[in-house]
Amino acid sequence: MAETLKRSGNISVETQNIFPVIKKWLYSDKEIFVRELVSNACDAVTKHKRLVSLGEASEISVPYRIDVTLDTELGTLTVSDNGIGMSADEIDRYINQIALSGALDFIEKYEGKGEDDGNGIIGHFGLGFYSAFMIADKVELISKSHAGGATTKWIGSDSCEYTMEDTDDREIQGTDVILYINDDEKEFLDGTRIKSILDKFCAFMPVEIYFTDVAEEEKAKKEAEEKSEENKEEKPVLPINDTTPLWQKKPSECTEEEYIEFYKKVFNDYKEPLFYVHINADYPLNFKGILYFPRINPEFGAIEGQVKLYYNQVFVADNIKEVIPDYLMIMKGVLDCPELPLNVSRSYLQSNGYVNKISAHIVKKICDKLNSLFNLEREKYENMWHDIKPFVEYGCMKDAKFYDRVKDIILFKTTDDKFVTVKECTEAEGFDNEIYYTDDALQQSRYISMFRNESIQVVSFDSAIDTQFISFLESKFISDEALKDVKFSRVDAGISKALRADGETTENTELCEYFKKTLGLSEEFKITAERLKDTEVPAMLNLTEQSRRFSEMMKMYSGGEGMGMPVEETLVLNMANPLIEKLSASFGDESRKDINEAIVKQVYSLALLAQRPLSAQELRDFISGSAKLYGML
Ligand code: ADP
Repeated sequence: MAETLKRSGNISVETQNIFPVIKKWLYSDKEIFVRELVSNACDAVTKHKRLVSLGEASEISVPYRIDVTLDTELGTLTVSDNGIGMSADEIDRYINQIALSGALDFIEKYEGKGEDDGNGIIGHFGLGFYSAFMIADKVELISKSHAGGATTKWIGSDSCEYTMEDTDDREIQGTDVILYINDDEKEFLDGTRIKSILDKFCAFMPVEIYFTDVAEEEKAKKEAEEKSEENKEEKPVLPINDTTPLWQKKPSECTEEEYIEFYKKVFNDYKEPLFYVHINADYPLNFKGILYFPRINPEFGAIEGQVKLYYNQVFVADNIKEVIPDYLMIMKGVLDCPELPLNVSRSYLQSNGYVNKISAHIVKKICDKLNSLFNLEREKYENMWHDIKPFVEYGCMKDAKFYDRVKDIILFKTTDDKFVTVKECTEAEGFDNEIYYTDDALQQSRYISMFRNESIQVVSFDSAIDTQFISFLESKFISDEALKDVKFSRVDAGISKALRADGETTENTELCEYFKKTLGLSEEFKITAERLKDTEVPAMLNLTEQSRRFSEMMKMYSGGEGMGMPVEETLVLNMANPLIEKLSASFGDESRKDINEAIVKQVYSLALLAQRPLSAQELRDFISGSAKLYGML
C-alpha cells in the first residue's frame, strides 16, 4: 500500500496577491464561478470520454453526470463529476502551481485600470478554479483519478494556504469541489439563485447536470411520507440542461418545429420568429449558430435583439453586438465559437479580425436566406416584408455589400396591394423609366385614381426612411446599365408626362394668362394647358420631383420649422375636361365675367385640395367661393 500522503504549503509564492485581484476585478460578476467549476467538470468528463475512445481508459459502468448540490445548513455548494479525476501529483501540478508569470505581468500592467472586465485574466490564464474564492473562504477538492490510486482531499483557504491528504471520502473516479460560502456571500446559498445561474451558464453544456437543494429535498420527502402509500409516486429527476442543443445538429436533421420551439424557449418569446438561419461554418471560421428574425410587436416600441455567445456549449456572454452589424441588431440567436477564448472581452471582440469574418459570414447567410425565400416562397417573403423592410433599407444604405446581395429582392407595395421589385416595375407594360409613388395615399388619392385608370402602377411609401431610400436607390441605378435612366416620381410630379392623352399637345396661352390674372398669381407661376386622358378633372397641380425633394430635405434639416425652398409647381389645365373647354370658349365673354371668375377660383382650389391640405385662408376662400358660385346657378 502506498504511503499515505500529507502535504501542505502555500499555493505559490507569486500567487500571494492573486486573490485580492480576483476578488476585486470580478466583483460585479461573481456568478461566473458557477460556469468555471461546472465547465471544469464537463471538461473532466470529456477528457475521460476521449481516453476511452482512444483505448487508454476503461468505460465506467454508470452514466457520466455532474451534480450541483446546495446544502444551506452546512453552508456549502458542491460541484461533483465522475470524469477523469486527479491524482495527488496532478492536483499539485494543476491546482497548486498555477502558471502565473503571464498573469502577474498582466496584473501589474492593468491593476488600477479597473475598466476592463477581469473576466479576461481569470479565463485567459487558467484561473477558473480560483474564481471559487470570490464567494468561498474555504474550498475542498476531493478527487480520485480514473487511473486508480488513493483519493486526495485538498483544502485551500483564501489566504493562499492549502493542505493535501489521502481520504476515503470518494470511491469512484471524479472530483468534488466543495465551496464553503463565506458570510458576505450568503445570496449564493439560495436554491432559486443557483438554479437561475445554472440556467444561464450551463443550459447547453454537453454533460447532464443535476441540481439538488438538500433542504428542499428533505422537505419534499417529509411531505411525501405524510401522504398515503399510493400517492407516493417518485418524480423522475431531470437534468437542468440540454446536452445536444439544436445548433450542434446538422441543419438537414432539424425540423421547423424544433427551430421554433428552441427559439421560444431560449428567448422567452411566445411569438414565432419570421425566419431563421442555421449556420454551420467549417474551417477556417469554425462556428455554429442559429439566428432568428423576431416578429416585432410595435406596441412595445424599439426592440433589441440578443445574441448569446457560447464556447463549446458553455455560455460566455449575452448580447454580443460585435458579431452582428447594427442594421441587423434586431436578430436573436445563439453562436457557438470555439475559436474565441472562453472569456472574451468587449474590446477584444471589437478589434478582432476573426470576429469581422464571422460577422461577414452571418450577413451573407442571412442574405442567402432572404433570396431563397424570395425565389421559393414568395408569398411568405411578401408577408414578412413589412417587418423586415426598415432593416433591409437601412442595411442597404449602410453596407454596399449587403445592398448588392439583396438589391433584386427589395419589394415595393403598390396601391393595389401587390408587391413588385424594381425589375418587375421596369418590365411593366408601357414603363417609361419612371416609377410612380405616393407617400400619402389618402391626400394623393385623386392622383392615384388617375394613374389607376391608366393601369399605371403606383407604389406606396409610408415612412420617412423610404424617401431617403429612393434617393439612395437612384444613386445606385446610375452605375447599372439596365437601370441608369430609372427615376422615382411622386404621383403629383407625373401629371403631364404620364397622363397626357397620346400625341396631343395643346397650347392655350391666352387661357393660361386669364387664369393667372384672375387668380392674382405672379408672373413666374407656371400654368399650362394639356389634354389629359382623364376627362373628369379640370385641373391638377404638377410639382417637379427634384425641387420638391430638395425643399423637403431643407425642411427636415431645419427641424420641420423652416419654410423649405419654393417648389416648382405648374397648374395643368385639362383641355379635355368639359368645364375647361367651356371656359376656354367663353372667358372673353363679358356677360359671363363673374361666373367665369368664380369657376376659375373654384378650379384652382380643387386642384390645391387634391394636392395638399388648404391653409386657413385658402379654406375660407374656397367655402365663400363655393357659396357664391351656387348663388349664381
Ligand atoms: P483551466 O480550466 O482554464 O485550465 P482551472 O484553474 O479551472 O483552469 O483548472 C486548472 C486545471 O485543473 C485544469 O486544466 C484541469 O486539468 C484541472 N481541473 C480543474 N477542475 C477539474 C475537475 N473537476 N476534474 C479534473 N481536473 C480538473
